[in-house]
Amino acid sequence: HRVLVIGSGGREHAICWKLSQSPKVAQIYALPGSHGIQLVEKCRNLDAKTLDPKDFEAIAKWSKENQIALVVVGPEDPLALGLGDVLQSAGIPCFGPGKQGAQIEADKKWAKDFMLRHGIPTARYESFTDTEKAKAFIRSAPYPALVVKAAGLAAGKGVVVAANAKEACQAVDEILGDLKYGQAGATLVVEELLEGEEVSVLAFTDGKSVRAMLPAQDHKRLGNGDTGPNTGGMGAYCPCPLISQPALELVQKAVLERAVQGLIKERINYQGVLYAGLMLTRDGPRVLEFNCRFGDPETQVILPLLESDLFDVMEACCSGKLDKIPLQWRNGVSAVGVILASAGYPETSTKGCIISGLPAANTPTQLVFHSGLAVNAQKEALTNGGRVLIAIALDGSLKEAAAKATKLAGSISFSGSGAQYRTDIAQKAFKM
Ligand code: ATP
Repeated sequence: HRVLVIGSGGREHAICWKLSQSPKVAQIYALPGSHGIQLVEKCRNLDAKTLDPKDFEAIAKWSKENQIALVVVGPEDPLALGLGDVLQSAGIPCFGPGKQGAQIEADKKWAKDFMLRHGIPTARYESFTDTEKAKAFIRSAPYPALVVKAAGLAAGKGVVVAANAKEACQAVDEILGDLKYGQAGATLVVEELLEGEEVSVLAFTDGKSVRAMLPAQDHKRLGNGDTGPNTGGMGAYCPCPLISQPALELVQKAVLERAVQGLIKERINYQGVLYAGLMLTRDGPRVLEFNCRFGDPETQVILPLLESDLFDVMEACCSGKLDKIPLQWRNGVSAVGVILASAGYPETSTKGCIISGLPAANTPTQLVFHSGLAVNAQKEALTNGGRVLIAIALDGSLKEAAAKATKLAGSISFSGSGAQYRTDIAQKAFKM
């Protein structure tokens, strides 16, 4: 079979790497792909001149002409803009929901109302389009209403967790009053502040049944000990022991199954990944957000632990047969990934620094996936973005995997202003 993967990040590198191991996959095209993806067996990048990633009709036409058996959409933007619908109506199996399903991520007000309609545990909230009403609510809410969120997609930047009502009101003025993130902030969600550990439970779904992957934990803050500014994620590990077996069972029933039943009731076709970002509060798990696609960097540590054939799983999601196939995970193995980012990230990013110390090839216990990495005419690897790559180690012990991944990260260096990386990924889990 031939597969088309949309995207160019570390997540898509991991997806291509895993798909290439399937004996059923003959060729993988990546749009636009990356240097790292092009090096994966069976993979070929499609440059933007061959196919415009924004032209969905052209993607559908090209996929038909090239007998693509499956399209896998990595990022949320094309899903929110309806790539899934265009492919679906052209009869091309697409791993990823249509526009309506993607609202679960792309419209936070819609997602919160959806959770309320279907009894999915989440923080209490109100939504607003008027700054004065929002601020009056923050000052008088019966709970600490300190989390202010732009309802639309703002690349993870449209969320303010305020320390007090004054700061929350400032966020209202910026996001809704000044439209700092454009129309994404024209509607606001004001939410109850929750406390606890955050865990990501991603699941495969065919729109009828839903099967959780192993739980993972991302590290959003730039610095050790969860300090510094928020980023796209500085590292992750899997499986995450911070969520107990009973809590996982609750997430399966009260979050994942209720969501899929809710989508069915609302007549929304949904196939692909349903990602629940959870806060483990004293009163049990609460959904912070749903995403309609794989997470980055969680995917890079989850997929190496998947024993089953990813092509089979994705195809089953697209054909309504997810309950018919085995979904197996490597037992007793942990994966830890440490992100290397450019100097200045997340505010700015320095491009063009030479990367040295890259391992020659991936091995079963040591992997590198690329996010922002390019090569020059001399075939030197260069930094080409904020997050550059992720260094991953697998081991029977989580602690060992963390030590090995951190060591691997430390052995890779960037010329000039150097690399930033955390040395405490997964350490929270050792305190258990
Ligand atoms: P991303 O997609 O980058 O995870 P997002 O913009 O979709 O982010 P959320 O996941 O809703 O936004 O929130 C971002 C972060 O803000 C969460 O990971 C969490 O740390 C914090 N946060 C969100 N909601 C709450 C809440 N109700 N209480 C406490 N913290 C919260």
